[in-house]
Amino acid sequence: MKLNIQNTFTSELPADPITGNQRRQVAEACFSYVEPSPSAAPKLIHVSKEMLDNLGLSVADSRSAEFLKIFTGNAVLDNTQPYAMCYGGHQFGNWAGQLGDGRAINLFEVAHQEKQWVVQLKGAGATPYSRTADGLAVLRSSIREYLCSEAMHHLGVPTTRALSLALTGDKVMRDVLYNGNPAYEKGAIVSRVSPSFLRFGNYELFTSRQDAQTLKTLVDFTIKHHFTHLGSPSKEAYIAFFNEVVQSTLALIVHWQRVGFVHGVMNTDNMSILGLTIDYGPYGWLEGFEEGWTPNTTDLQQKRYRYGNQPNIGLWNLYQLANALYPLIEEVAPLEDALNQYRTGFPKAMIQMMRQKIGLSTEKEKDIALIQELERLLQEAETDMTIFFRLLSKVEKADTSNGLDLIKEAFYTPSELSASLREDWEAWFQFYGNRLQEEAVSDQERKKSMNQVNPKYVLRNYMAQFAIDDAENGDYGLLEELFELLKKPYSEQTHQEKWFAKRPEWARHKVGCSMLSCSS
Ligand code: AMP
Ligand code: MG
Repeated sequence: MKLNIQNTFTSELPADPITGNQRRQVAEACFSYVEPSPSAAPKLIHVSKEMLDNLGLSVADSRSAEFLKIFTGNAVLDNTQPYAMCYGGHQFGNWAGQLGDGRAINLFEVAHQEKQWVVQLKGAGATPYSRTADGLAVLRSSIREYLCSEAMHHLGVPTTRALSLALTGDKVMRDVLYNGNPAYEKGAIVSRVSPSFLRFGNYELFTSRQDAQTLKTLVDFTIKHHFTHLGSPSKEAYIAFFNEVVQSTLALIVHWQRVGFVHGVMNTDNMSILGLTIDYGPYGWLEGFEEGWTPNTTDLQQKRYRYGNQPNIGLWNLYQLANALYPLIEEVAPLEDALNQYRTGFPKAMIQMMRQKIGLSTEKEKDIALIQELERLLQEAETDMTIFFRLLSKVEKADTSNGLDLIKEAFYTPSELSASLREDWEAWFQFYGNRLQEEAVSDQERKKSMNQVNPKYVLRNYMAQFAIDDAENGDYGLLEELFELLKKPYSEQTHQEKWFAKRPEWARHKVGCSMLSCSS
């Protein structure tokens, strides 16, 4: 196995002088060296061919004994030194102090085809940042992260990637529902890959400790490697850096809203500085379109991280990052300006995205009313988001009077549509039809462009659970099937029509299908 190893993070940033994984507070350092814990009986379940390519590895490499050892914590590659990052974060709105990589261990950086990747193991044992937890991960949550991060990439949503999924052969104790019924589950490790795993929380921690020097070292490093075009360190570069993070965060969350993805735990330690989706925990996909939906049982009271609130939380989190960067800028106005760009830019970006979802290629003032009414109607009776937008592309602009009929499959209980709701829908289709008349684009072209932004297949919550149930029994066929299916989420895959279906009724309240806890 030949990799072009480069270790910029560990060679350019201050290290914790103490080694070993005893839990501790780590000051004035960006990371601690730490050894992965060996796995008892490691077994690879799946490898992403695309990620092998990205790193310059072959399928043969992935079948080697060395690959298995390295990606399950049983060996460390020569000339590399694994480490855990030190970061803090705001959790559910409160400053939580030092958090850090409690169960992620960064193995090395690889440079390949002019790209730089960090490779890390999730679930390979305790680090100084594990606090009261074990540093391990279970199979169900590892499958969820593995499948979803690759699926997101293929949906065109910025995300960290996944290279491999393996069983450790160890048993891990988890209390899935936090109700005092812990049980043993299969331990697993996902190897994750990203240009960087830096989070807002990495910067926040130093500011919270009034350590402006390490903050500056880390920001300079970030700009040098990930925002190279901003040039050498200066106040202007820091302001430009913040502006770029604001814009990439905005763009990321618009993508989430577009595909109906709910992250579930948008704490600032789960916000990537590169605007990537990071840390797949109790995430979920909208089935019925519902602004108030969250998959995370830990957040059911407050619903802070519900679908409709993700844009606001993005802004709230950016405020925390602005505070963290303030010591380097020492001026409020430019930070406020950047945040205001988000505040005013988000609604505009959302309208633009919704225009694309309903196939409008020009901009008219009335589109806002058209879209707002649609969002209201979608919530009046439970309507499957993915199916609705896909079917909507079948409408013909010459006559939209059959609109309701064309999309009726998207309703969970079509028979229960009230007469007045039907009327409202009919009126909406008329409004939509009139609006389409103002477009020069043909039905054919509109359908094509709509189908490029409205996925046909997403990783519905129950689909992941099916793959998990089979995998728990040693059958990985469905995992492979979904992995392949989700590589082409916008394509008609006629032999896979069964996955273009509403959530079955049994999955509505089933653990893992609609409700997930942070216990992973
Ligand atoms: P999360 O919100 O799941 O991204 O995790 C929040 C913090 O808890 C991070 O610092 C994680 O590294 C840590 N953490 C979560 N699960 C574990 C675990 N099983 N062992 C150690 N640390 C964990
Ligand atoms: Mg996290």
